[in-house]
Amino acid sequence: MKGTFDTPSILIIYTGGTIGMVEDRRTGALENYDFAHVRRWIPELDEFDYNIESYAFKPAIDSSDMEPANWAAIVKVIADNYEKYDGFVILHGTDTMSYTASALSFMLEGLAKPVILTGSQLPISKIRTDGRENLITAIEIAGARIGDRPEVPEVSLYFQNRLFRANRTTKRSAEALSAFRSYNYPPLAEVAYNLPAILQPEESPAELRIATKLSGGIELIKLFPGMGEEILRAMFSAPGLRAVVLETFGAGNAPTSEWFIRVIEEA
Ligand code: ASP
Repeated sequence: MKGTFDTPSILIIYTGGTIGMVEDRRTGALENYDFAHVRRWIPELDEFDYNIESYAFKPAIDSSDMEPANWAAIVKVIADNYEKYDGFVILHGTDTMSYTASALSFMLEGLAKPVILTGSQLPISKIRTDGRENLITAIEIAGARIGDRPEVPEVSLYFQNRLFRANRTTKRSAEALSAFRSYNYPPLAEVAYNLPAILQPEESPAELRIATKLSGGIELIKLFPGMGEEILRAMFSAPGLRAVVLETFGAGNAPTSEWFIRVIEEA
C-alpha cells in the first residue's frame, strides 16, 4: 500500500456545490471558481504535513443534477488513483450528498482507504464559511492512521464536527450549518474517533473492486395518511418499474388495511 509510514497523500475530488462557489460582491450571485485556486480561499491547506492534490470535474455539477452516471465517474476517478493516494476527499453539493455517499459505499467494494464526502452551506468566499473547517477536518481524517492502517477505511460524510457512516446519513436542514444527521448509527467521530463503530475491510490485504453498472427503474414511495388505493396503484404501475423502496412510518409501520395489502401483494 503506497504511502504507508510516509507523508499521507490525499486527493481532493471537487464535483461541485456551494463549497466551490464565490459570491459576486456587486450582484450577490454565486459563481463557480477554478478549483485549482482553492488555496487562495483556504491558505491553511499549505500548513498540512500531507501531499494534497486535487481533481475537478468540469463543468462543476450542482448536486441536484447528480445522476448514477456521475457516481460512476467519481468511482472511476477513485479507482484510477487508488494506489497513488492514501485517502480521498470528495467535495459535493449538500442537497444530494447523502445519495452519492450511499451509492459510493456500495460501488466501492473491498475499500480499505478513507473516502470522505463534505461540502458547505455557505460559499467559500464568506468570511465565516463552514467550508473551510469542513474541508480541513475531512483532509485531516482522510490522512489519519493507527500505526500503518488508515483510521477510517470506509465511505463517510463529514459535516460540522461530526463524521458519519455515508449510507446512514440524511440532510436534515437547508439552513443549519449542522446540516446532516445519522439517525440509526452513531457518529464515527465527534471530537474523538468512535473506533468500535468504524468498518474494517473484510480481507487483508483488501482489494478494491468497483461496481459501476447501476439499475434504473427504481421508485421511492413515501407513504402518507390518506394516500389511497388509486394513487398507490398508479405508482406501482409506472412503466419500466423494477423495484420500489417504501418509505414507511415510524420504525417501518404501514397501513394494515385490506386495500394496501392487496396492492402490495399484486405488485
Ligand atoms: N445547490 C447546492 C448543491 O447541492 C447546494 C449546496 O452545495 O449545498 O449542489
